[in-house]
Amino acid sequence: MTNKLDGKVAIITGASSGIGEATAIALANEGATVVLAARRGDRLNALAEKIATTGGKALPIITDVTDEAQVQNLVHKTKTEFGRIDILVNNAGIAAIGAIDGGNTADWKDMINLNLLGLLYVTHAVLPILKAQGAGHIVNISSVAGRTARPGIGVYNATKWGVNGFSEALRQEVCQDHIRVTIIEPGLVNTEINDRISDPVAKQNMEERRRSLTPLESEDIAAAIAYAVTQPPRVNVNEILIRPTLQY
Ligand code: NDP
Repeated sequence: MTNKLDGKVAIITGASSGIGEATAIALANEGATVVLAARRGDRLNALAEKIATTGGKALPIITDVTDEAQVQNLVHKTKTEFGRIDILVNNAGIAAIGAIDGGNTADWKDMINLNLLGLLYVTHAVLPILKAQGAGHIVNISSVAGRTARPGIGVYNATKWGVNGFSEALRQEVCQDHIRVTIIEPGLVNTEINDRISDPVAKQNMEERRRSLTPLESEDIAAAIAYAVTQPPRVNVNEILIRPTLQY
């Protein structure tokens, strides 16, 4: 039986947990060779082994996407090993949320460096390869917070709003090269994302919010990504917004 992504090569950033991990499994199940990028090598190795046991192919490459040299290494190694790159899922991100007044500016820098600059660096590094191939697909993980501003998440809002603006401009720049750009906007998903919140009030508020509804699971978002990247070349799924049923 053939799978929809047989012969395709996909890089997934932030593949060591949550949405990235589930996406790597989903795309490997569709036949893609998946390149797993994040900082925690032990997690990436365990995931690569898991994918291999189900007949999939995965290559872990330890990468901090906020470091442009490491990003160049990720893309160069992928191209050298597999000869092509078809799909990039820019998923690595943090939500170091908290009020703007009195906010932790180190957290702000971390969010901007990762959620925005990291995503830009990986996009910048893969684009010449996609253009030379005459096809490719970039999936950027934004958030409901890229469309709806709320008190207590202002800087996270700014990064995800930035992801949306950048993605739409990119889509228009590269559509004539047959390169597709998709924005995925999840609501609350049950992952490790809260671990990175340094503000105790913001953390408690977020945990209470999560308890007040049944959050999405990472697999729900992975299924949306798999849907977008398995459409025929004429179809560009521009944007998918997915909230838990009980989320306002
Ligand atoms: P997780 O915390 O489970 O995953 C975050 C991933 O990002 C990890 O794999 C982590 O790996 C990676 N990462 C962090 N810093 C870096 C770095 N410098 N370089 C490379 N990778 C890095 O969270 P989620 O799965 O929830 O988050 C994934 C994406 O989904 C994010 O962009 C987030 O904003 C978005 N999102 C999440 C929502 C949610 O409710 N969970 C809602 C809406 C959007 P490592 O630490 O090993 O580097």
